[in-house]
Amino acid sequence: MSERARGEEAAAGKAVAPGAAAVRGTRDILPPESSRWQWVEGVARRVCERYGYREIRTPIFEAATVFTRGIGEATDIVEKEMYLFRDRAGRELALRPEGTAGVVRAFLEHKLYAGPLPVKLFYLGPMFRYERPQAGRYRQFEQFGVEAFGSADPAIDAEIISLGIAFLEAVGLDRWELRLNSIGCPTCRAAYREMLVTELSPRRQELCRSCEQRLERNPLRILDCKEPGCQLLVEPLPGLESYLCSDCRAHWETVQHYLGELGISYRKYPRLVRGLDYYTRTVFELVGTGLGSQDALLGGGRYDGLVEAMGGPSVPGIGFAAGLDRLLMSLAGGDGLPPAAAATDVYVARAGEVPMGAVLQLAERLRRAGIRTELELAGRSLKAQLKVADRLGARFVVIAGEAEWARGLVTLRRMADGLQEEVARTEVPGRLSELISET
Ligand code: AMP
Repeated sequence: MSERARGEEAAAGKAVAPGAAAVRGTRDILPPESSRWQWVEGVARRVCERYGYREIRTPIFEAATVFTRGIGEATDIVEKEMYLFRDRAGRELALRPEGTAGVVRAFLEHKLYAGPLPVKLFYLGPMFRYERPQAGRYRQFEQFGVEAFGSADPAIDAEIISLGIAFLEAVGLDRWELRLNSIGCPTCRAAYREMLVTELSPRRQELCRSCEQRLERNPLRILDCKEPGCQLLVEPLPGLESYLCSDCRAHWETVQHYLGELGISYRKYPRLVRGLDYYTRTVFELVGTGLGSQDALLGGGRYDGLVEAMGGPSVPGIGFAAGLDRLLMSLAGGDGLPPAAAATDVYVARAGEVPMGAVLQLAERLRRAGIRTELELAGRSLKAQLKVADRLGARFVVIAGEAEWARGLVTLRRMADGLQEEVARTEVPGRLSELISET
């Protein structure tokens, strides 16, 4: 760890011993929180299935050029936020800061464009950005994203937005705002860019430091700068809409028409450009409302030039990515989150001199019968064991007591009301399956 990084840790009041804590900006997901992650990932998979999107898994690291070419050199992600490293053979690699560039690389490598189009894919997994950590912002975070290649039809723009909304609603977020814009194609954008440079150059001193640089390299980004000074300067300038060429305008209007047909309300956001170079035409964000924070939960857009820019044929594309860390945080504040699942169905308690090997066998038979089973391993008193069973949410306890055991029996206790019955050891799996399916 560098001195500076260690200083940051100390300032954050964190343990500074190297290796004693997760690296700054990363964290552990412990049970029962991990079950919430499984749940949200399950929802994403099921929604994608309904819309015909299938899973792609790409590597967590790629050649750095995949991202520098794919995302664009003059973007915050590539300039400041990538985890770059050389492997032992000297290759320049990067941990993926987002999902799209790697998916496009895979799309080209496996010539998916030669098969039936559109190709509709989704991914789930960690992304890495060297950003300043704060609430809801991590250096390793989880995204769910979808990409559709091979259709320039505005209908797929509407479909993918609808999928994003279906996902948010399926996790219980039914208060959202759809922010929508069109940033045109390189042709109409060039004229707009020129206008921006002409208007803003004489007042460049009033821009923030980053925007002063953006003016040369990526003037569109000035539009969504959060600095009040920059916002004030761009406020009176016309939006991109009035600069759209006729094809882009027709696309933009049809997307809005289809959203209307689907009953999806939206708000036009002329300042929405999204950070990455590859976007064309439709860009959108879904923002949770009534959550206190106005952060985008999900963002995406069309990227018709990206596949070609990465060395492939001219194939249009569109996609979005949702940040799952923030999504789960917003749910934790509301009431959409399901209760953490009980850790087990059955607890096998041992009282007195009952042979451990035989109890282990019994637990094993229950597990093979598909019953979630925990086994007492700490040698606690029966009373303490019942307490543990209760804490784990077990619905039944199998009490292997010395006297019944000797007669080939065990006691089954229903935790809800303490009702007990004696059952032959050989019949425990069958009887418990029955009882569990009854409740
Ligand atoms: P982006 O790829 O920047 O468009 O981000 C898509 C979504 O990922 C955002 O709306 C956030 O919810 C999430 N996200 C982006 N960066 C981070 C981060 N550093 N930590 C947690 N979530 C993030």
